[in-house]
Formats: sequence, structure tokens, C-alpha cells
Amino acid sequence: MSEIPYKIYLEENEMPKQWYNVRADMEKKPAPILNPQTLSPVTLQELSGIFCEELAKQELDDKTPYFDIPQEILNFYKMYRPSPLVRAYCLEKKLGTPAHIYYKFEGNNTSGSHKLNSAIAQAYYAKKQGLKGVTTETGAGQWGTALSMACSYFDLDCQVYMVKCSYEQKPFRREVMRTYGANVTPSPSMNTEVGRKINADFPGTTGSLGCAISEAVEAATGQDGYRYVLGSVLTQVLLHQSVIGLETKIALDKYGVKADQVIGCAGGGSNLGGLISPFVGQMLRGEADYDIIAVEPASCPSLTRGKYAYDFCDTGKVCPLAKMYTLGSGFIPSANHAGGLRYHGMSSVVSELYDQGLIRATSVEQTEVFKAAQTFAKIEGILPAPESSHAIKVAMDEALKCKETGEEKNIVFGLTGTGYFDMVAYQKFNDNEMMDYIPTDEEIAKSLASLPEVE
Ligand SMILES: *Cc1c(COP(=O)(O)O)cnc(C)c1O
Repeated sequence: MSEIPYKIYLEENEMPKQWYNVRADMEKKPAPILNPQTLSPVTLQELSGIFCEELAKQELDDKTPYFDIPQEILNFYKMYRPSPLVRAYCLEKKLGTPAHIYYKFEGNNTSGSHKLNSAIAQAYYAKKQGLKGVTTETGAGQWGTALSMACSYFDLDCQVYMVKCSYEQKPFRREVMRTYGANVTPSPSMNTEVGRKINADFPGTTGSLGCAISEAVEAATGQDGYRYVLGSVLTQVLLHQSVIGLETKIALDKYGVKADQVIGCAGGGSNLGGLISPFVGQMLRGEADYDIIAVEPASCPSLTRGKYAYDFCDTGKVCPLAKMYTLGSGFIPSANHAGGLRYHGMSSVVSELYDQGLIRATSVEQTEVFKAAQTFAKIEGILPAPESSHAIKVAMDEALKCKETGEEKNIVFGLTGTGYFDMVAYQKFNDNEMMDYIPTDEEIAKSLASLPEVE
């Protein structure tokens, strides 16, 4: 009998009171973001026109290792955190592996994912600055939902540009957002110049995340008292998401467990970056070593097949340029069901850690991912989000490898959310209609050919 419980909870007084900024411990920092017009590093003043001032400061700060979490945010966190770190005893038994598998479950809140951790922080700073509201985009809908909850808590107006195909295919996501008081517009819309242009250039288009971002930025800069907020990719978001990794580390330390592998799915890199940051911090300071794995869909393989270069973060090219692993801002991934992983680029922090060889990456095909999701749902009782299931798949593969080698590795993975709004995807899987599409080298090369030229 092991003494480790199925669920390791932390007491309220054990919860982290600061976020950790992994950039502070990086000797070679992620490259600065650039102004899209001048191609010079963005200044705080320029960035403060788009983002709340406090968030702009966090975005540009690569020196301060710890940021105090404001009390109001801590109070909100206490409603749904700490999230449990679960020892997957049942899954271990099912796989017959000597490995010890742990997962950090972030689906225990109404938004159903980790995104609320940053949404509440961003809404808080907007409120504190005296703003009327914020604008954002949402693809699959998780971020829009999280932000709607956060804005309603702080009584802020919330304007969400939702990728048109999701708006039509996921009416229930849309209604959750509206229930929390958000204003949801299908993108591309006729509200913004960039939306009108995209509609004129591509009649009948069902939109993309890059296009919705451009619309949301334009809407923010065009209205007094509004700023733009983003749910992934940015370093401020990774900072807020470090709460996931910090809690995980505290929980493991409480039982004297040293992780061997840390695994997370990677779309824009925020949950992965947050989960791994305290572990990578130890690696950077030479205190410990871990095998860290980023898992991405084979249909949108920015780390494993993209290029490390400056690129636009959005289709309309209004956002700052970031140096990142990218497939090109014009890359349109095939209709993969893990909407949260369909972004052409990757957080500049995750990209730099990958480039330095501190983490590795792998890609998996969606049918395999859904098989793993089903196995997991049956044995661990949680119906996982398709995005999260990418990490499940690789954690299971790693555990099966241990079965062959007899190694008792401690495998930790991030279970970012639940899949209740993804039943169309599960339906396709159950009906054997799911397709695996992998872009060809030519398609990727074509998209990369339009990268901006930056010295
Ligand atoms: C958005 C989302 C992701 C991917 O976003 P990251 O920024 O890469 O973490 C993963 N899982 C779920 C459930 C999501 O909603």
C-alpha cells in the first residue's frame, strides 16, 4: 500500500502566493517582441495602448522572478483552486505499468479549463486600471468562456470575437458566454475594418483565430476605455499559468515525490509553460533534471516542423511580431477537433526553451488521441478535452515504455480540461468518421515562404 492518496490537495495556506516568471532564470532570454510597423522592440508605452499597463509591464519583464498574486485574485483562485493532483492508480493498473502516473486536473471550474487562471488576472488588472471593458477572440470557446466569467465577476464589459465556424458549431459555448453577460460576435464580422476586408477578400469564409485576433485588437484600440486581452501565447499568460506548476511542485514535494517526466499539450504554450516553469527553473539553476515533453497535433506541428523565426501573431498583422516556432501566420490547419491547439505559432518562452534543448516535443494524430481519451475516460472517470488528451496519449505511451524497461518513473502530465462541449468530435470518433490530416512539406514550405523579413 502506498501512502500517496488518489488526490493530493493543498490546504489554502499552502497555495502559492506568487507567480513565477521563468524568464528571470533564463541566461539567454526569449527574443523581444517587435512593433509591426517599425520592427523595433516594442516599448512599454506602445504596448500599454493595447494591453492594460500592469499586464504590459509583466509582458516585458524578463528579470523579476516572482510577482505577488494580488489578494483579490487569490480570493477568486480559492473558489476553484487548488486543483487536485491525481495519482492515476486506476490507469496504472489498467496499463500494467510500474510507472507512477500523476495528472494535474484543471477542468474543475465552469469554464472547464486552465484558462480561467489567466482570465481572472487579466480582468482584475483591467478593473484596477478603471477600464470599461476588454475585447478578445475565441476559437473553440474555452478562452471566451473563461474571460466572460472573469469579467462578470469584476463587472467589466466583455466583447468576444468568436471564429465563425465555432460560433455556428458550438452554440452552447456561445450561450454560456452570453449567460455570463458577454457580447459574442462571429468573426470575420462587419464591425471592424479588418473584418470587412477579410469578408471582401474571402467571401463566405468561416474565419480563423488569427483573423479574430486582428478584429479584437482593432475593436479595443478603437473604443475608449477598452483594452485587448489574450488567453495564450503571451508571456504574461504563462506567468499567470505558473500557478499550475507551482501547485504541482508543492503537492509532489509534500509526499517526497520527484517527477521524472513532465508532459503537457501545446497550442499556444500557456498550460505547458505554466506547468513546467518551476521544473524548468530548477533545470536552469542546475538543481534538478527532468524530461519535459510538449505534445502537439500532427495537423498543426509548430514545434516539430515549424521554423524558429519572427512572425506575425495574427492574420491582420496588427499585433507585435514574436520570435517563435511557427508554421507561418497564413497557415490554416485542417479541421482538427482540438481547437485550442490550432494556432500557427508558439509562446516565445516555450520556443526558446525548446531551442535550447531544455524541453522536447512530439506530435500525435487525432484518432490515436481520441483512443487514449476514451481509455482514460473509462478508467479515470473524467471525460477529457481533446486538447488535454494529447498529453494523455503521450503519458500513456511513456508509461507503456516503462512496462518494457521495468522503470518506476514518476510521470506527471497536465489534464487541462473537460470535453463536454466537444461531443461533435467524440461523435465523429464513435462513428469512425474521424480523419487524420498531416500537412505536406510543400504546404508548410509555402506558408513559411511568407514569413516577414526581420534581421
Ligand atoms: C486552450 C486550451 C489548450 C491549449 O492552450 P495552451 O495555451 O497551449 O495551453 C489546452 N487545453 C485546453 C482544455 C484548452 O482550453
